[in-house]
Amino acid sequence: MGARSGSTTLGFVLRAQPIRDADLIVTLFTQELGKISALARGARRSQRRFAGALGQLVVSTFELSRASPRAELWTLESATVEREWLELASEVAAVAHASYALELVRELLPSETPEPEAFALMVDLWESLRSGVSTASLRHVELRLLSLAGTPPALESCAACGAQLLPEEPCLFDPARGGAICAACAPHSRGAGARPFSAQARRYLMAIAAAADVAAARELVRPHEPDAADRGAARDAMLAMIRVLVPHPLKTVEFIAKLNQAGG
Ligand SMILES: [Zn+2]
Repeated sequence: MGARSGSTTLGFVLRAQPIRDADLIVTLFTQELGKISALARGARRSQRRFAGALGQLVVSTFELSRASPRAELWTLESATVEREWLELASEVAAVAHASYALELVRELLPSETPEPEAFALMVDLWESLRSGVSTASLRHVELRLLSLAGTPPALESCAACGAQLLPEEPCLFDPARGGAICAACAPHSRGAGARPFSAQARRYLMAIAAAADVAAARELVRPHEPDAADRGAARDAMLAMIRVLVPHPLKTVEFIAKLNQAGG
C-alpha cells in the first residue's frame, strides 16, 4: 500500500450529491487544490459529523486525504466553519446571485487547478451581498471568471482583427469569435449568437472589467449606469459568452431572470 497523501485547505462547497444511505459526494472549491471531488462519509446520517461546514455561504477548513496522488476522489476527514454569511440565506435575490456565481465556478474552471483569485472573488461577492444585490457586481464576477477560464471577452478592441474600437463606435458582439467585432469584420459574423452591441453597453462592461473588485464594480457604475436596454445587452453578451463554454443550460440563470421580472 502506498502512503495516503493529505491536505488541509480553506474551501467551500460547490455541489453536494447524495450517495448510498449516509454519504455525500461533495464538489469543493479549495484555495490550495482548486476544484476537487470528495467523499463525505456519514454526512447525511449525522448533521454533527461536519457541523454546518458543508452548507451554502460558509468558508471552511477542510482536512482531506486520498489513497494516492493520482486518485480523483478525495476523502473529507473533517470540516470546520471559518467564516459564514448565513444571514444572506433568507434573502432570495442574494441566494440567487451567490448560487449563480457558484455554478459559474463549477462549470468554467478546470478541476485540480488552484485558482486563488476565484476563491477571493466568491468571498468578495458574499461580502458585497450584505449590502444588497448588484447586477454590476454580477457582471464583474462573470468577466473575472471568463478571464480565469482563458476567454476574456474582447471589449476595447475587435476580437477578430484587433483594431482599437472608438469610444462611440457601435459594433457587434459575437461570442463565437470572442467578443466585440468592428464594422469592417462584422460581415463575417453570421453565427446565431452575434448581436448588435451598443457603445453604452460596451463601455459599461469595460468599466466593470476595470474595477478592482466586486464592491468597486458596484460603486463605479452607480453615477453613470446605462439604461435597462443597455444593461440587458451587457447581460445577454456575457451569457452568450458563457454559453460558448457551457453548452447546457445553467440552472440559476432562469432563477435570476424571474427575480428581475418580479422586481420590474
Ligand atoms: Zn475587426
